[in-house]
Amino acid sequence: MFIVWGKRVMRKKQGYVADFCPMCRELQTFLLREVRSYSHIYYIPTSANTLVGYERVCQGCKLALHGAPRQYVAASKRPGHVREIVGRSFPAFHEVYGERLKVEESLRISPDGLSPEVRRALIQQPFLVLSPLVEAQYGRTSVDWVIGASLAGGVAVVALAAQLTEWLPDNYHTACFAVGGALGLGLIIWAFATAVQRFVKRKIVPRAARTLKPLRPTETEIAAALADLKRMGHKIGGILKPKHVVTAIQDG
Ligand SMILES: [Zn+2]
Repeated sequence: MFIVWGKRVMRKKQGYVADFCPMCRELQTFLLREVRSYSHIYYIPTSANTLVGYERVCQGCKLALHGAPRQYVAASKRPGHVREIVGRSFPAFHEVYGERLKVEESLRISPDGLSPEVRRALIQQPFLVLSPLVEAQYGRTSVDWVIGASLAGGVAVVALAAQLTEWLPDNYHTACFAVGGALGLGLIIWAFATAVQRFVKRKIVPRAARTLKPLRPTETEIAAALADLKRMGHKIGGILKPKHVVTAIQDG
């Protein structure tokens, strides 16, 4: 019997706060949420809720980042103007992020006027922020349309091989099934093996391109940032293709 069991995650709204979003590169409103998990069998809870942590979802780019409620003085119940929310939730924002805001301002005025170190750090930042999303993808099996099509295609190839044996002499039957089976299985394995690569191209590349657009980075600069991340052990550094980011920046 197939038993449905595992862990489920619940998110509870804590309120709206304001903070700097490294992907939007500006002050943004965030929805602060408490994240809890519990065990279940057939979706019936079998354990108490345990606190996993907090997350804040940027209302500009919708990315969920790690949240720390203690960092904020208060959380507004309703979303309002960001200037109003920052005054209530993070009054020290301009003190804390003053230097970063100056960098963003000089980038707006003259994109080529930044020092090489600052430019390198700014190019690397979105990949560092997006890295946990890629790491999490390795731990889960999400079925996209390519995997669905490969499963259907794999079955079709095996069925075709079975049909072919009707017309082939008996001594070719084993070889025909072996080739059909290997092709069908190969197709399914390929679809699963390349699933993270497709996720990165679909979900990560457009986000990175949006953040990097004001910097107008070259393919070499992106490749250098990703190589650094790869050396630090981030999987995003090995799987993301710099060329895809450059193309997305040009198209965006
Ligand atoms: Zn954002």
